[in-house]
Amino acid sequence: MADHHNMPAPGADYVVFRVTGKGYVVLNPSRKQASGVYHDLASAQARCDRLNAELDRRLKRGPRACMCCGETFASEGIGNRLCHRCRHLDGGPAVMAFARPARRSNG
Ligand SMILES: [Zn+2]
Repeated sequence: MADHHNMPAPGADYVVFRVTGKGYVVLNPSRKQASGVYHDLASAQARCDRLNAELDRRLKRGPRACMCCGETFASEGIGNRLCHRCRHLDGGPAVMAFARPARRSNG
């Protein structure tokens, strides 16, 4: 591929890219060609969807159980193991465990 000037910007997903006069190819997240040339958009899109599904599995994106409360949430990646609510709790679950008061003041 010599023609890089109108490539979409790098992103998180595979995308279908139209090659003028040729057809459609699938580009990987760093926008390198990741498939052969398809003559119809539907085939390219199907290939693209399959690659994205694979990528999601590999990066553990998509629905998963929160490490803290166990609620299912849409994870953004392998390091994202807390749901939105738990991530925005003060300090998160690990800190909370250590911050628990050891003495009782009114008992
Ligand atoms: Zn949670």
